[in-house]
Amino acid sequence: MCDEVVLSLEEVIDLSMKVLTLNGLSHAQAQPLARAMALAERDDCRSHGLQRLPGCLDTISHPRFNRNADPKPEEVSAAVTRIDADFGYSLLAFERGLEVLVPKAKAMGVSILAINNCFHSTALWPEVEAITAHGLAALIMNPSHSWVAPAGGSTPVLGTNPIAFGWPRKDHPPYVFDFATSAAARAEIARHRKENQPIPMGWGVDSEGRPTTDPAAVLSGAMLTFGGHKGSALATMVELLAGPLIGGLTSMQSMAFDADAKAAPCHAELVIAFDPALLGGGNIESNHEAAEALFAAIAGQGARLPSERRFLARQRSESEGIKVSRELYDRIVLLANA
Ligand code: NDP
Repeated sequence: MCDEVVLSLEEVIDLSMKVLTLNGLSHAQAQPLARAMALAERDDCRSHGLQRLPGCLDTISHPRFNRNADPKPEEVSAAVTRIDADFGYSLLAFERGLEVLVPKAKAMGVSILAINNCFHSTALWPEVEAITAHGLAALIMNPSHSWVAPAGGSTPVLGTNPIAFGWPRKDHPPYVFDFATSAAARAEIARHRKENQPIPMGWGVDSEGRPTTDPAAVLSGAMLTFGGHKGSALATMVELLAGPLIGGLTSMQSMAFDADAKAAPCHAELVIAFDPALLGGGNIESNHEAAEALFAAIAGQGARLPSERRFLARQRSESEGIKVSRELYDRIVLLANA
């Protein structure tokens, strides 16, 4: 039997929809989550694809999770929109908030969407791309659970705190990066533990704060940020801007809120959109050319732009279908028919 199953985007979405709605998630909540996981499969970001589904069921089972959350945007000012996700997933709140964020950014030059009380575990690039598709630049960030120690410390107080940025391009896919500020993903450290493999030095410290290559010691000790004190400060910035600034939980508070339920972090998300047409001083064409010259100078020396791998995977999936391992597919089908 072939060890891969080839599916269309719609088939991957349908499969996730079945599992999520069977477990009580409302259609409106399930739709954007199923789509985000399918997009991750399509773009070969497997860790945020179908393999996340079992973890989603843990989150849906969290006593504070609202399976029927029905978020509605609240216009705080000409540039600011707040949306209370009401303890559902962040994605429906993002979708609804986007409808207000985009026209506000085009009217004001910059616009902010503050999403509160959301459970979040997906990648941020689908949201960034939803904004760049409107010709806007985007910056998104959120705290998570406190697994990461600050540079020079040993007690986990920071989250893995992703930062994602997007820049719209005319004749190319957007420039997008999206990464955690931790040196490595927690799941990657757990995989090393499962496979009995050491991790590289610099990913974390043991509970005494000693640098170690033992994944189990890091999981019970603390992860570290990338870039020493620089990554540590960036992760702290994410805590503040997507936490207290907009009335959201810090990663420490999110961890306490979880109370060992092992659900996805529950926190806030900061989404900012910038309009190059309004902010560019009337020089949109020459500003666009300057950005393109920068990308050409990066790519021209053999360095790759972030998201290039993903966009190539997307092209491949669009022509050949999305390849899912048979083992994962069978596991998900079991969940869909449970
Ligand atoms: P990586 O360290 O894999 O970095 C990902 C980014 O860097 C991508 O944009 C990637 O592009 C780019 N990149 C990777 N290698 C290169 C290279 N050699 N040259 C140029 N660009 C490169 O990501 P992380 O493990 O830190 O994060 C993965 C995902 O996890 C993110 O999507 C993040 O949002 C998500 N996450 C979400 C959290 C949440 O609370 N919601 C918490 C933590 C992480 P490409 O894709 O093309 O390889």
